[in-house]
Amino acid sequence: MWCLLLALATFAPAVGVSLGASGASVLGLASPTTTEAPVSTPAPRSSQAELSAGNENGTSEQHVRIRVIKKKKIIMKKRKKLTPPRPPVTARASVTTSPARTLDLPEKQEPDCPPLGLESLRVSDNQLDASSSQSFGLGPHRGRLNIQSGLEDGDLFDGAWCAEQQDAKPWLQVDARHPTRFSGIITQGRNSIWRYDWVTSYKVQFSNDSLTWWGSKNRSSGMDAVFPANSDPETPVLNLLPEPQVARFIRLLPQTWLQGGASCLRAEILACPVSDPNGLLPEVPVLGSSDTLDFRHHDYKAMRKLMKQVNEQCPNITRVYSIGRSHQGLKLYVMEMSDQPGEHELGEPEVRYVAGMHGNEALGRELLLLLMQFLCREFLRGDPRVTRLLTETRIHLLPSMNPDGYETAFHRGSELVGWAEGRWNHQGIDLNHNFADLNTPLWEAEDDGLVPDSVPNHHLPLPTYYTLPNATVAPETRAVIKWMERIPFVLSANLHGGELVVSYPFDMTRTPWAARELTPTPDEAVFRWLSTVYAGTNWAMQDPDRRPCHSQDFSLYGNIINGADWHTVPGRSVSQRRAPGGQGSHPAPLGSSVCGTPRHE
Ligand SMILES: [Zn+2]
Repeated sequence: MWCLLLALATFAPAVGVSLGASGASVLGLASPTTTEAPVSTPAPRSSQAELSAGNENGTSEQHVRIRVIKKKKIIMKKRKKLTPPRPPVTARASVTTSPARTLDLPEKQEPDCPPLGLESLRVSDNQLDASSSQSFGLGPHRGRLNIQSGLEDGDLFDGAWCAEQQDAKPWLQVDARHPTRFSGIITQGRNSIWRYDWVTSYKVQFSNDSLTWWGSKNRSSGMDAVFPANSDPETPVLNLLPEPQVARFIRLLPQTWLQGGASCLRAEILACPVSDPNGLLPEVPVLGSSDTLDFRHHDYKAMRKLMKQVNEQCPNITRVYSIGRSHQGLKLYVMEMSDQPGEHELGEPEVRYVAGMHGNEALGRELLLLLMQFLCREFLRGDPRVTRLLTETRIHLLPSMNPDGYETAFHRGSELVGWAEGRWNHQGIDLNHNFADLNTPLWEAEDDGLVPDSVPNHHLPLPTYYTLPNATVAPETRAVIKWMERIPFVLSANLHGGELVVSYPFDMTRTPWAARELTPTPDEAVFRWLSTVYAGTNWAMQDPDRRPCHSQDFSLYGNIINGADWHTVPGRSVSQRRAPGGQGSHPAPLGSSVCGTPRHE
């Protein structure tokens, strides 16, 4: 069951929006109280990943993203070996729920207890211990599901816990700090672009005092159960215990691992709190929020229902409409919020927020659902700032551009979905790379001295190749382009998952094949200002103690970055301020406060 979404509470997205004629205004969202910032997955070395994801079109994207991009690095060689050449979504090895043939595992391999919180950091570093570690960067604190390595081997933050080579009896230990009912384990191998390491089988032991241990037994034989583990670095493998065990400590004891490699793993533990009728135990902290906003994951139906409710609560300032359908026929719902819903008023800037372009990045979707609830609620309360915002702008919120992908990821669950499943649309197209590349024709025209007299630097037409009937353009992308042609947006933003930073245009380097290069638009100062307003009011970004998601510490640069100066991939998504074939659209910063897909807690 998906319950409270802790990560959302940390979000406090304060959105700085330039409102064109109406001047600047800043909308600060209420900031709930929790402080946990789940760090998870993705790595910034996205170039390979993004390329592999299908950027047939060159492409461009029209918004500034606040991206929290769920970009995990992919090992191309490895992936090729591991997966048949099919669209990425389907090509990815499916989750192995590996019930051992030799084990009497429960037939139903679905987790019944929630994650203890290795991935979300609810389990702190000092709750993790190990028999040995190859280095500090490969210490037990790195044995967390979906954690990513740094760029170099030997980084302080490497991609797994790895025992020393000579450690004949390695173990990784988790102290739950309370009597806990352990029900299952999810493991991955080591995340690294240089090495392949994963554990192929392990045993599990339990203890109440960390001295006396007992093992998980095979029910029929009474022997220690040996759980089959991983066969590649990334695919999460779930094993449910034959019998759940109540204990305080749990140990994973690798028995075999990839030949020539080391005993390296990343893990999540599934565990339920144990009731304490006598009240003798220290109280287990309860997750939650006192805010009345709806903090949980919303699948398609729940999202639709929530949008309908907001519309009913605030009929005078809202309108729900659809801009088209996904490949699988789900409607792409937009919540419009303004004092004259349905009408473009002269001089009133049109602003849009798009989330869920990558279907498995749940956070942006939830943020926009929270934003619409917040705006409705505060409008009803008479909040002057919100009232002014709704009176002087027209806001369009598209919480889920890729609902097909979201449904896939949602039903798999956050622990088992891995980094790729549900990321692309149903055809395997990365919507983030699926827009036309408008940078190249613009820059070519500039080089030829044609701008702005012969070629305007806005309202660029779509390139011919992009409009051909056989062009690889997803229905979701087409819907958004048509939307942009219909409404003269002046400001837009995309929300992603995977990194905590505001990224502003351009995303593509002007020098061909340059890996990174500051590539400013003529509006560099505006973009930097907008981005800074967002970053400066985002609680998580401003937390001096927050851990970098990956190897880059964006707090050194004010938590904002020019997209192309971060990393480029030729032909990759380009945050352009010019809508394809349509209206100029300034990017707006958004933000998020988690590094990866938020857990359901
Ligand atoms: Zn994304």
